[in-house]
Amino acid sequence: MLKLDILALAAHPDDVELSCAGTLAKAVIDGKKAGIVDFTKGELGTRGTPELRMQESAASAEILGLSARENLGFRDGFFVNDEAHQLEVVKMIRKYQPDIVLANAVDDRHPDHGKASQLSRQACFLSGLVNVKTELDGLNQAPWRPRAIYNYIQSIPHEPDFIVDVTSTWETRMKSIFAFKSQFHDPNSGEPETYISSPQFMKMVESRGIHYGHEIGVTYGEGFTVDRKLGIQTVFDLI
Ligand SMILES: [Zn+2]
Repeated sequence: MLKLDILALAAHPDDVELSCAGTLAKAVIDGKKAGIVDFTKGELGTRGTPELRMQESAASAEILGLSARENLGFRDGFFVNDEAHQLEVVKMIRKYQPDIVLANAVDDRHPDHGKASQLSRQACFLSGLVNVKTELDGLNQAPWRPRAIYNYIQSIPHEPDFIVDVTSTWETRMKSIFAFKSQFHDPNSGEPETYISSPQFMKMVESRGIHYGHEIGVTYGEGFTVDRKLGIQTVFDLI
């Protein structure tokens, strides 16, 4: 069995890359095991194809040094937060037993993001209940509750509750974004321009990282929100 230290859940392939891939890459460099479970294949995306997006996801996973990346094949745009979907996510949480879960923004431009955030949070809770029964590959799964869930920030600039210094992995994060070649700016592409394919969009991503970095006195940062008070062992942990 592969146990992960940190697991990012995402509505669409590329949500993690656009929000918190620097944090995952940094965890990997620190010797942690990291993974991503994408809920949909982003089949409603204007550019590229779901097949291409799966190849791009795998390429990005390699760049980030992930130990696992899976796709649940939920319906892009139309998946719902019901028992069936919650149990599919519970199976992944129990399979990988992460200490920390990163989830979509609590509220965002794309309605799937807030929906996925709620679904992730409920699945993390249900996963810890012994009477919620799940099976994977014919075997009963043991309950598992992650220690913490942090929501990353994507389109809407939420006020972060904490910011991770990702200066050392910013370049890796940008490479992981550009692994999604069909989605982002490519002057040679004949596909229609979208919200995320304009050159302006990449400038926004860069400036968001600089802005969060600036707030904690480093070059690049990634912000997260959390629904409870944060505790620390020692003030020396803070930068
Ligand atoms: Zn998305």
